[in-house]
Order: sequence, then C-alpha cells, then structure tokens
Amino acid sequence: MSSIPIQPMGPHDIGGQPDHDPIDTTDHGMTYWEKHANAMMMVAAANKLTITDERRRYIEGLGERYYEMTYFERHSEALANALCERGHIDEKNLSDRKAEITRRFEETPTLSLPEPSEHQHEDFKEDETAEGFNDFHILNLAVQEILQEKKLITAEEVRAMIEGFESDYPSRGAKVVARAWMDPDYHNRLIEDARPAIEELGIDLGRQARIIALANTPTVHNAVVCTLCSCYPRFLMGHPPTWYKSRSYRSRLVHEPRAVLREFGTELPEDTTIRVHDSNADMRYIVVPMRPEGTEGWTSEQLEEIITRDCLVGVTVPVAG
Ligand code: FE
Repeated sequence: MSSIPIQPMGPHDIGGQPDHDPIDTTDHGMTYWEKHANAMMMVAAANKLTITDERRRYIEGLGERYYEMTYFERHSEALANALCERGHIDEKNLSDRKAEITRRFEETPTLSLPEPSEHQHEDFKEDETAEGFNDFHILNLAVQEILQEKKLITAEEVRAMIEGFESDYPSRGAKVVARAWMDPDYHNRLIEDARPAIEELGIDLGRQARIIALANTPTVHNAVVCTLCSCYPRFLMGHPPTWYKSRSYRSRLVHEPRAVLREFGTELPEDTTIRVHDSNADMRYIVVPMRPEGTEGWTSEQLEEIITRDCLVGVTVPVAG
C-alpha cells in the first residue's frame, strides 16, 4: 500500500509551537523600501500577476535561508521568483536591470561633508529615500521597471498603493465599527456578510480576500493571527504591525491567548471564552469589539478615536476616555 509522504513543517509553520519570548507590543513601523516592497506585492496581486500562495510556497522553500532574511527580503525575493515562474519576467532581463539600477545608484555623486562631522571619515551617498543602498530594494525597482515596460502595471498604481497605506486604509476599519456601534441593523448586516456591508460605506476593497467580521459579546472575545505568515485585511486596516508578523505572536496566540492578551494589557474575565482565528490567503478577519460604557451620545469621529487597530485585531478592547 502506498502512503502519502508527510511533508516536514517549514520554518514558517509555527502556530502552537513552544515559544517563550515575550511579545514586543510596539509597532516599529516600516522603512520606505519596505513600504515600496509591500506596494509591489499588492499591485502585482491586484493585476492578477501572482497570488499569495505562490509567493508563500517560495518562502516556505527557503530552508535555512529563511532565518537569515528579514520579512520583506523574503517577500521581495518571492515576488520576483513568482513573476519569473509565471513568465512575466525573464531572469536574465531581471539581473541585467538590477545591474543597471545599481550602476545608477553608484553614479550618485558622493557628498563631501563640512568638517568637523561625525561622518568625516566616510563617503556619504544620498539616495532618493535617504536610507542608503539595499539589494532587495534594487530588486523591487527592477521588477517594477520591467512590469511597467510590459504595461502590466503602472507607476501610478504603485504610488497610489503606497499613499493609500499612508492615509486611507488604516482608518477604514474604525469607520466600519463605529457605524456598527451606532446602527444595530448595520451591525447585523456586517456580521452576516461583511464585504457588502463594508462597501455600503463607499469603501473599495479591491481584490482583498474574503472578509469576516467577528462580533465580541459579553461571553466571547475574538482575537486574530496568521500563524503561517501575516495575512491581514490590509485594505481595511493598513499595514500589519510588527508584532503581528513576529514569531512569538504567531506561535503563542493559538495556545496561550490569555497570556498573550495580558502582555498587551488586556485582562478578560475568567469566564470569557477567547476564540482565536487563524487567517489565511483566502480569509481575513476584523474584530467588532463591544461598545464601551460611557460613550453614549458620542459622534462617529469620537468613537473612531477609541477604535484602535489593536482592538480590531482583538489584542485590546476599547475604553471610553
Ligand atoms: Fe499569512
């Protein structure tokens, strides 16, 4: 009798694994090159050039290299690889373009700094982002230029995606929940089928994966994780915070949610059930917290201020004032 070989778990697959590291609950933000890398992934997906599972399959196959790379280094390499595999980009063309962009950077004049300066013994080169050189940023720029030349994406789409993450997307989730707090019928529609309810508010979710809204109640509290990587409703909540992508959060939330929530300063009654939802490439979640006492008569804007991103992931609960 033949048997199906069991695949060993990849380095990414850590949900429920023992991990005792406390969670750093500060969001460390993102550099420009990381925001650009994220926008490239989203624009490529919006134009149906790759899907999340293709990029993740590449990341899962990185083996030991997984541990040597940062989050966006892995994702940038995976994007380029997936686009080459699909034939949107030719590997030789890509490496030539990277060399050309590197040359362009190297031709940037070196500034001689006035002395005395702490940099006086270094050559200082300023690039467009003031973040210095980065091979993975050069890779993403090469991918962008080639896709633009092939008319598969536009520079405008990449720019608009970066700006959407800076301005609009992070505030959308709070708008949805504030509306649900003020309108019980809307709350019901949102829980029943989130996407049309969200779109009622004029929010364009684009090609965002399926969204499920989870209602907290006096007896059930919901919290969200992606144990494999970082699946997150980006068009509703912006960039996932640093901790959402961390090894400790992804491994620990599923087996000790109460302890994890305590690290975020959230102490729930002992008899409250905590339900942890594991996101994936096809399904993303937003938590609809309970409206706290003391917010009667508040305007939508006042309510939105206390509906923080962390409440929408379910690691904290909103408080009045
Ligand atoms: Fe994920």
